[in-house]
Amino acid sequence: MERKRTLMAAEPLLQRAKPATLIAIDDGHGAETPGKRSPAFPDGSVLKENQFNSRTAELLAEALTRCGFATLMVAPEESDTPLKTRVMRANEARADAYISIHANAYGSGWNAANGVETWIYEKIMGQSNTYLFAQSVHEAFAAASGRKDRGLKRSADLYVLKATDMHAVIVECGFMTNREEAELLKSEDYRRKCAEGICKGVCAFYKMEYISPERQEPEQAEPPTTAKPSTTAEPSFRYQSIRDIPVWGQALIAEMVENKCFGDAGRMDLSEDMLRTMVLLDRLAKARKER
Ligand SMILES: [Zn+2]
Repeated sequence: MERKRTLMAAEPLLQRAKPATLIAIDDGHGAETPGKRSPAFPDGSVLKENQFNSRTAELLAEALTRCGFATLMVAPEESDTPLKTRVMRANEARADAYISIHANAYGSGWNAANGVETWIYEKIMGQSNTYLFAQSVHEAFAAASGRKDRGLKRSADLYVLKATDMHAVIVECGFMTNREEAELLKSEDYRRKCAEGICKGVCAFYKMEYISPERQEPEQAEPPTTAKPSTTAEPSFRYQSIRDIPVWGQALIAEMVENKCFGDAGRMDLSEDMLRTMVLLDRLAKARKER
């Protein structure tokens, strides 16, 4: 009890230092996962999906770091890391968002299906933060790709969308089974376009300034560990889950969650002001009791 009070006193309400927003990045499949490849090009070569996914994942990590985010590669291995392991790594690290990068396929031979799309879990509500995150990522990424926009889609079955504790999207960056898009998917230029587009969308959602590769100047680059999302200054920002709650509010909110104060669904939807008020009233109540 004594210890907790000391900790709270040492952390003034208005001087919350939030660590950098953590984005988990998933490269979709293993390097040799069967079936995940383009039809054969005229020279006999194929594009393996992971060649696109893993390079684009690297470029995305580079872009996000440049813009002040922290990143976590959930499947850095060559082998096909199980989906369960990928998700567990992101959940355990308490990542704020999860982005899984893929290239699409339709059938097994060359055909006309084309365009880019983004997937979210089917139960995501239209105005939820996860939906807004997905929308922001999709819009920026689809525009940057220059390909046909197939839209934001919902799925009940995609494990990484269902089992992650954070905002989660799967981005499908074009069809390996379309000759024109397969050529793009092979190119460093298109991979970079996709990565920068996704990064722009993430920046827009978290109200961070997007810094393009050209604009980056080493002396201005902020190390990701000290970067803060500007969400604290944004009046519409609301805490949706206990892992978002700053340290000075955690004990109280944990107690409230335990006592089902937010109902069975556990959705808290607290503004910064509401949280501060609750913490202050709780302190008053405790001080009265101790007097
Ligand atoms: Zn895939």
